[in-house]
Amino acid sequence: MPKSLLAAAALACLLLGPASLAANGGATPQTIEQIRQMVEKQYSALETFYTTLHREPELSLAEEKTARRLADQLRSAGFEVTEHVGGHGVVAVLKNGPGKTLLIRTDLDALPVKEQTGAPYHSTAQTKNAAGQAVDVMHACGHDIHVTCLAGVSRNMAELKDRWKGTLVLIGQPAEEIVHGARDMLKDGLFTRFPRPDWCLALHVDAELEAGKVGFVSGYALANVDSVDVTVRGVGSHGAQPDKGKDPVVIAAQTILALQTIDSREIDPVQPVVVTVGSVHGGTKRNIIADEVVMQLTVRTYTDDVRHKTLTAIDRIARGIALSAGVPEDRMPVVTHLDDESTPATYNDPAMVDRVVATFRKVLGEPNVVKREPVMGAEDFGRFGLEEPKVPIFMYRLGSISAERLAESKKPGGRPLPSLHSGLYLPEPTKTIRTGVATMTAAAVDLLQ
Ligand SMILES: [Zn+2]
Ligand SMILES: [Zn+2]
Repeated sequence: MPKSLLAAAALACLLLGPASLAANGGATPQTIEQIRQMVEKQYSALETFYTTLHREPELSLAEEKTARRLADQLRSAGFEVTEHVGGHGVVAVLKNGPGKTLLIRTDLDALPVKEQTGAPYHSTAQTKNAAGQAVDVMHACGHDIHVTCLAGVSRNMAELKDRWKGTLVLIGQPAEEIVHGARDMLKDGLFTRFPRPDWCLALHVDAELEAGKVGFVSGYALANVDSVDVTVRGVGSHGAQPDKGKDPVVIAAQTILALQTIDSREIDPVQPVVVTVGSVHGGTKRNIIADEVVMQLTVRTYTDDVRHKTLTAIDRIARGIALSAGVPEDRMPVVTHLDDESTPATYNDPAMVDRVVATFRKVLGEPNVVKREPVMGAEDFGRFGLEEPKVPIFMYRLGSISAERLAESKKPGGRPLPSLHSGLYLPEPTKTIRTGVATMTAAAVDLLQ
């Protein structure tokens, strides 16, 4: 907080007295100062926790140690902890009298990426992936920062019990990177076996935002992801006799290009759509015309309407191109929607965003709370807001790059910033963790009034 604001807060305190401040409720200047002191007090323990998590990352569905470590932290803060909810999920509940219920979520998993940051606490972990291949593992998406922040919040909220009322539910969600965990926890009774939330809150590190700042998007922030397989079927023949078959390679090529007209010709131009054919496989040998080509697509949209139109167009185009090539009816393409690898958009509730962002401004000062642009990336956090009756959710972004590193990246010819999921991505822990814990604690105190 700038000095002038602190002085104004102190003056207000003198003028109004403690009773008025209590009636005002929420994240008062006094509470914010108290939160700041609590964060300082526990910072070195949190950093140790963070480096331990960073050194020992675990892949999606294998977050056994990470979940246990988080559960231990939450238990020692005084929460009632249940483990193994939807796989390695952790649910911790702290009841503090009548009132609303707030759920705060961290994800737990890491990625099959080789760390190249050279940090003293870098990961050398290796494991086998689901296909049995040896892979390096790294927290390249910052979920270790998220877990650490949640541990910090749990201690603060337990200590600040006289400043809030209601119920706090903290969860460690597994398998975010494969967009499974949110669904698995909901299926396992997250909203029925435990207090049902009135709001859900989460944060995610931002690989382009300065540490010490937070960012927000009101409304759609992350996209619907639909995973679709298209199997183009033809009629095999000799490579020198294309007239004797129906070449699925040529049909697939035409289909790929035609799919790009969905965005440019069929959907309202101000509505974002991405149709990416990420994998094409067909054929065995240069002189054989294959009988099928398998394509894997990722489809990104925001609204239900655009999503529906885009998926319908993929079906129609795949079939239409096959028809125009003269493929017989029994060899029409097969379009498969993979529900398991799809996830809905994250829609940040505008009223909740306004309320929480106002608290962030009190904690960090106006210039450190910045509006960010929505992206077509994915998160399964959005699912928590879609269970009927729907609850407002908000995922904000936590700056994680030092000011010096950011400045260096902006110089002509400067070293570009690595993106999330890069083996070079390394958050600056000191400011990032402090900011994450302080903002999230203040938001929780403010919502639970
Ligand atoms: Zn990620
Ligand atoms: Zn992530």
